[in-house]
Amino acid sequence: MILRALRNSSHHEWLVAGCLLALLALVASAVAGGLPAAELVPVRMSPLPGAGAAAVTADGQALRVEGNGRDTWAQLHFRLPPRADGDADATWMVWLERKPVDAVQLAGNGWDSEQRGFFHPHARAGPLPTGFFFHLPQDWQGDIDLQLRVRSELPVVLRPRVLEGIEAWRVERQGVAISATIYASLFTLALLALALFLAARDRLFLSLFGSATLTLLTLSAANGHLYQVDGLRWLATWGVEGLLALQFLLCASLPQLLLRYAGTRAAHPGIARAIDVGCIAMAVLAAVSLLDLQVLLRWLQPAALAARVACALACLWLVFDAARRRLPMGGPLAVLGALTVAAGVVRQLMLLGHIGNLPWLRAGDQIALAGAMAILAVGVINRIGDYRDQRDRDQLARLDSERRMQREAARSDLNATLQAQLRGSAEGDIAWTAFHLLLERLAPLVRADRALVVAQGYRGQDVLVVVPVAAKAGVEALVARRGLALKRQAANGIPLQQPVATGEAAGGVAMEALVPLPIRAPAWGMLQLERAGGEGFTTEEMALAGEFIRLALVHVDQALTAIQLRRSAELDALTGTFNRRTIDQWLGRSFGEVERDGQPISVLFVDMDHFKAINDKYGHACGDHCLRSVAQALRAALGEDDLLGRYGGEEFIAVLPGRGGAAARQLGEALRADVERLALDWEGQPLRLTVSVGVATRLHDERPAHTIDRADKALYAAKRGGRNRVHVAPAVFS
Ligand code: GH3
Ligand code: MG
Ligand code: MG
Repeated sequence: MILRALRNSSHHEWLVAGCLLALLALVASAVAGGLPAAELVPVRMSPLPGAGAAAVTADGQALRVEGNGRDTWAQLHFRLPPRADGDADATWMVWLERKPVDAVQLAGNGWDSEQRGFFHPHARAGPLPTGFFFHLPQDWQGDIDLQLRVRSELPVVLRPRVLEGIEAWRVERQGVAISATIYASLFTLALLALALFLAARDRLFLSLFGSATLTLLTLSAANGHLYQVDGLRWLATWGVEGLLALQFLLCASLPQLLLRYAGTRAAHPGIARAIDVGCIAMAVLAAVSLLDLQVLLRWLQPAALAARVACALACLWLVFDAARRRLPMGGPLAVLGALTVAAGVVRQLMLLGHIGNLPWLRAGDQIALAGAMAILAVGVINRIGDYRDQRDRDQLARLDSERRMQREAARSDLNATLQAQLRGSAEGDIAWTAFHLLLERLAPLVRADRALVVAQGYRGQDVLVVVPVAAKAGVEALVARRGLALKRQAANGIPLQQPVATGEAAGGVAMEALVPLPIRAPAWGMLQLERAGGEGFTTEEMALAGEFIRLALVHVDQALTAIQLRRSAELDALTGTFNRRTIDQWLGRSFGEVERDGQPISVLFVDMDHFKAINDKYGHACGDHCLRSVAQALRAALGEDDLLGRYGGEEFIAVLPGRGGAAARQLGEALRADVERLALDWEGQPLRLTVSVGVATRLHDERPAHTIDRADKALYAAKRGGRNRVHVAPAVFS
């Protein structure tokens, strides 16, 4: 597993990890080098007769204290060598490693030592003491028997050693160096994590800060150093329970930190939930410990051991999973995690006296834990790069969506504007208006120094729109010059961009985008955008231009089609004059208008004479031809305000606003004469056409239907009167 983790990690991780391991090795070698190679004075222990059960290990080297809060006694035997000359100041000491015992004291030979305790620091012990030490009286020599009294609430194993003062001082100094290194690195980590949290606002760093601080507190409490700090001495009132509470908290915090680091919640939600539950349980146990109830202590101790085991297993699983998923520093972290756990196990066995004292492993678990925290910090800091990438990605996505929204808005705006403006445009202006709008709306989205749309033969029109307008003259010349090339390019149908010489400023170059208009040959058209300098158009810009063009063309088509539709609905297909429905509408409107203006209005009914005969003789096609010719002649004879419509088969109606009876009659006469004069022929044979005309002028308050009725009757009269004549309806028709 470790090997796989090793293979999965990158080189720089191992560089960092290697440096750290080298540092650890240095500290370890310093520890090993600092310890006495052999016991100078062998110590033997035996139970103190009559002082209750005291478990002395089989080798007589260590005292196993049960941890029931009662005094435990043992007898110490050792032999102090005679003092060498010139070594008069040398003192002997009994030195015991600091363990969380309430009291430890030596007595015998008529001498009583001071009482020392883990939770009652000794003023002369210095800031980071490693052990309890007792100066033996200067004059002692030879065989010494002492009683060792220990009171503890936790089971501990004590190995008293008799050292020369200088040796004890060396051990102490070593301890100070190691502890100081561990605390300093944890403190730095905590500070760094806090700074990173303030900078990046990522709770992961807060979590790192919390865990580093908690580790610092827990380790310094476990070493007894926390109670040496003046302001924190009150923490000692919790005694063993305080230690346990810190342990539980640390056991709850480390897996949480790793969960965040490894992103396990997303990767393995079930396991993450289980770990969460465990952490909550440990937090509850921490709170329970702080209640400081003596009766609970018996249960809390095994619980603390179980918590440590559970925490170790969870952390190992998390770091190996992180290594497997190739998280930054996952591999080194897995290695250090394994080291920490192994060192922790050794230390625990050592504490319980199952294995002998391995001095250089005494602080091994703490050193490895600090190292693991440092590695974890490196891994976590690696994530800043991820954040930056993520932020850049977010920013890009935001910009992209903003751009998309802007484009979408411009598109719908163009859509709406085209719809609104083209509806009211005259037929001949529609294409121009559409292309102008297109360029106007494209301008804010696609920067161009000059933009133009040229279309030739499009819907029977040649169109050229240029923005800015000032450039139009130059563009016209350009289009004339490059017309053929543009036409070929348009036929190609593929948008392209190319650098062109502007010929303006010295060395003036520009980028030219050519987007063909998708219109049917032989018509062709091109959108051309020109951007000074070498900056090209993006694919997106080209696509947008193409899209806008398609939009404009769709609207031009729609507008023109609508005009045609309207026209076909209004006009008579054969003659091009208004159809009956339209004329009826206009009649109503014209009658209303003249009434308001106090003007006269007249209606002419024009019917072709003996038209049936023409059809019969020459065929329907000839009849149609005649109908068209007559309609043309009538239209030519009418004024601009007059309306002409085909009312039925070969019957036309003319509405003459502003004309009274005399003017209408005169006009009717002119019409009749014009038709009569028409020189038509059909397949070489001359045709002669005449029309009869009925005239009616609106009477006061008369409705159109009534006037038409009178005109119809007048027409009938004209027919009866012999045809090819005009008859005016009398003011009242019976
Ligand atoms: P009158 O002088 O009495 O008006 O004689 P007429 O033959 O014109 O009279 P009538 O109204 O009986 O005949 C009208 C003819 O017009 C009948 C039909 O053949 C012809 N006609 C009507 N609509 C069309 C058309 O759209 N095309 C052609 N070719 N002929 C039409
Ligand atoms: Mg007729
Ligand atoms: Mg008729």
